[in-house]
Amino acid sequence: MQLDTTPPWDDVRNYIDGDWRAPSEEGLDVVNPTTGETISYVGFSSDEEVDEAVRAGQAAFEEWRKTPVEERIQPLFALKELLEEHHDDLARVLVQEHGKTLAEARGELRRGIENVEVACGIPSMMQAGHLPNAAPEIDETAVRKPLGVFAAITPFNFPGMIPLWFLPYAVATGNSFVLKPSEQDPVVAQRLFELMEEAGFPDGVVQLVNGGVDTVNALLDHEGIEGASFVGSTPVARTIYERAAKSGKRVQAQGGAKNHVIVTESADLDFAAEKTVSSACACAGERCLANDVVVVDESVYDEFAQRVVDVAKNQTVGDGLDEDTDIGALISADHESNVRDMIATGVDEGAELLVDGRDVEVEERPDGNFLGPTVFGDLDPEMTLAREETFGPVLGLLPVADVEEAIDVLNRSDFGNAASLFTASGADARKVRHEADVGNLGVNAGTAAPMAFFHFGGWKDSFFGDLHAQGDDMIRFYTDEMVYIERWPDA
Ligand code: NAD
Repeated sequence: MQLDTTPPWDDVRNYIDGDWRAPSEEGLDVVNPTTGETISYVGFSSDEEVDEAVRAGQAAFEEWRKTPVEERIQPLFALKELLEEHHDDLARVLVQEHGKTLAEARGELRRGIENVEVACGIPSMMQAGHLPNAAPEIDETAVRKPLGVFAAITPFNFPGMIPLWFLPYAVATGNSFVLKPSEQDPVVAQRLFELMEEAGFPDGVVQLVNGGVDTVNALLDHEGIEGASFVGSTPVARTIYERAAKSGKRVQAQGGAKNHVIVTESADLDFAAEKTVSSACACAGERCLANDVVVVDESVYDEFAQRVVDVAKNQTVGDGLDEDTDIGALISADHESNVRDMIATGVDEGAELLVDGRDVEVEERPDGNFLGPTVFGDLDPEMTLAREETFGPVLGLLPVADVEEAIDVLNRSDFGNAASLFTASGADARKVRHEADVGNLGVNAGTAAPMAFFHFGGWKDSFFGDLHAQGDDMIRFYTDEMVYIERWPDA
């Protein structure tokens, strides 16, 4: 099959019960952030359309739950092959509606494919346990059962990967699934569903409904939805958690972040500077794992700051389709303006502006939402830039006396998504590992992103719920365990 990779594209459609249809309510233009051109349009789904999808999901579930597990994973194997075949096409679509670089888009899709691969192992992963002679003449067996229709509501920043944190596990365990992607870049989700149609999932098992807040609320309030996964900003994650729980659903809600790098005196400074700038500025800083508060031992502060400045000045800002680009466009003009405001706040609050990315110009793309890497020095833990998510290519260096103070700065944050430590000291690494309040910690790794066979999620205001995305947590999220307690007395 062919995927359409060249905009302008037809209006985005829903995929409900095996049919492609345009959502009925007024929606939004989809704009290429690099060129400023309108490349598609996404309508929003009404309550009736959401209801239709949920009912189709419920009907499909009745057969799908009984389908032998080996048969259930065949469409996932087919999907994996299709995703490999169309890896580059999907990356091109993603770049044009999101603004990130081709390498970043390919990388994101690779991480998504890994989740499909892991979910293909469900026949082993879904087994829960058996104990003969658990009590006199009694054997006990735990079984995991699927529950029905699940929904996921996903953000703009990884539109190709994040739906795949959920969908493969939901359907492999025997549930049906409805995705509501971000309205800012919904085309790649449609392309993923075009591949799913080809992969051969039965009608109603995987469905796509487009929309905004009202569509999300219709899903959360629908009594036919068993549970919801959310990924997005913290204020929305909190309301989603409350609203879904209120209607008795299981829910996992991943929120925003403010991630720290700790650079100790023993760190390899060249390596740490390279990884730090990349962590903060890749995907134009629009990553929940972007480490943008860089806490540096004061004995190496000046030396490290100079290296960071050099690396930051070396980044090429431009069109994500150009293979030489390091940093692409931000998602929208509004978001670019928010990040510019954050930079202005940093200046007003007295941080030292070491590299100013605001004047960056991309000659061929005058209407793109571009910002160059921006580096602040002498950050203070109370400054806005040290506390609030920036979601742009901005980082701040914060000097500390020692690793204890560094951990204290990190743990004072409201967020706990991730951190990275650069050190040659095992003792420092052990200390941070034991004392840092974060869900993911990288040691001599700039971006603490676990592989798909490990769960992924943050702590504190970065996460509301208990079971995280990916891996084994997803299997528990998508199933309930029943325990059989069996006695078979002799006749
Ligand atoms: P967002 O919260 O604006 O939107 C996320 C989704 O929620 C979208 O599908 C949107 O349509 C929907 N939505 C928006 N407002 C809503 C409301 N009031 N009620 C119901 N639904 C609503 O987030 P975004 O701007 O698309 O994504 C960026 C944010 O996501 C950042 O804060 C980033 O840190 C976070 N994020 C977190 C993780 C993680 O794993 N913790 C991963 C990626 C992104």
